[in-house]
Amino acid sequence: MWKMSKKCPVINDNEFHESKNALYGRLVDGIEFNSSGGLCKALSKAVMLDGGVVFGAVLVHDEVVHLKATNENEYTAMSGSKYLQSNLEGVYAQIAEELNKNNKVLFMGCPCQCAAVDINFKSKKNYENLYVCEILCHGVPSPGIFKDWIRFLENKYNSSVVNYYFRSKKNGWSRPSIEIVFKNGKRIFQSHNESYYHMWFGKHLSLRKSCYKCKYRNIKRVADVTVGDFWGIKNLDVVDDDIEKGTSVLLINTDKGQRLLDLAREVNNVFLKEISVDDAYINNTPSLSNFSMPVERENFFDTYKTEHIEGIIKKYPAENKVISLLRKIKHTVKSTRKE
Ligand SMILES: Cc1cc2nc3c(=O)[nH]c(=O)nc-3n(C[C@H](O)[C@H](O)[C@H](O)COP(=O)(O)OP(=O)(O)OC[C@H]3O[C@@H](n4cnc5c(N)ncnc54)[C@H](O)[C@@H]3O)c2cc1C
Repeated sequence: MWKMSKKCPVINDNEFHESKNALYGRLVDGIEFNSSGGLCKALSKAVMLDGGVVFGAVLVHDEVVHLKATNENEYTAMSGSKYLQSNLEGVYAQIAEELNKNNKVLFMGCPCQCAAVDINFKSKKNYENLYVCEILCHGVPSPGIFKDWIRFLENKYNSSVVNYYFRSKKNGWSRPSIEIVFKNGKRIFQSHNESYYHMWFGKHLSLRKSCYKCKYRNIKRVADVTVGDFWGIKNLDVVDDDIEKGTSVLLINTDKGQRLLDLAREVNNVFLKEISVDDAYINNTPSLSNFSMPVERENFFDTYKTEHIEGIIKKYPAENKVISLLRKIKHTVKSTRKE
């Protein structure tokens, strides 16, 4: 049994690093299922081709768990952001086992999870072989709500959910949508605003309480590298025809992080350009500073406790198709004016 309390990152402080370097870019091929530019995949490939293993988040029906990948095929299930907290049960013991065998290990997760992994292994054997990659994080919804959301969808469509893509790129990277596939062949494709679950996430209603006072929303970072969406790219004067394939931002925070990037460049066909650390956060302020807890959050969770998922669906509706269409038109006009 792993003793967590002495190494809890909330009680004990990790070392926070000033980012040394910032870049944006993408893997040149095969990033349809990666949420931004697939740079998490590029870093993972580098470690796995060097004989190492990767731990990342996988959606298993109605919950997200961290699993181990040893090759590109196994990494596929880790691709894509899943908007709920992942379960790390058993992962520390597996990381310890890999480090004891002198294998390289890459752990990928939310900043709080990375802080916990880093502080737990700092004084352990072969820590030099542990790379930690955090994603920029808006906050994570409660896993219980997601379970009930899936149950609600399965009852409504009378079939089990076999695939749930939180960030489909079918309408392009900058207009993320959700795609849900059912066993009976039914498919739901919606913008984030049209989906109840994603609306609650976007409006910060369903996030865990700790996410409103997260110390990892900070220009100084805990992980070796940080990967996020480069939402600021359209504000910079760059010519890049592939933006809509997906564009990641990458922050290099430690020497280990730099070694990981060097390795990733050697084994991947990757497009990367340097930018300033300040530019890396353009249009991405929720990753940098905490937002306040919405006043309706308490009522949202009270309703959920007493009236279950059906209650919050009634009281906190998603955007209807007409409003959503008007929003899309406004978005298109705005982007055309910029060009
Ligand atoms: C809950 C959440 C909130 C986010 N908020 C922001 C934000 O506000 N701004 C921003 O720029 N980027 C945010 N991201 C990150 C962004 O969506 C992409 O994951 C990131 O750009 C990496 O994309 P990729 O194409 O390189 O990676 P991909 O190959 O798509 O890999 C995604 C990586 O994220 C990890 N991951 C996925 N879901 C989870 C999860 N639930 N818990 C822990 N790890 C997970 C996987 O292990 C995988 O390694 C968020 C991601 C999540 C999961």
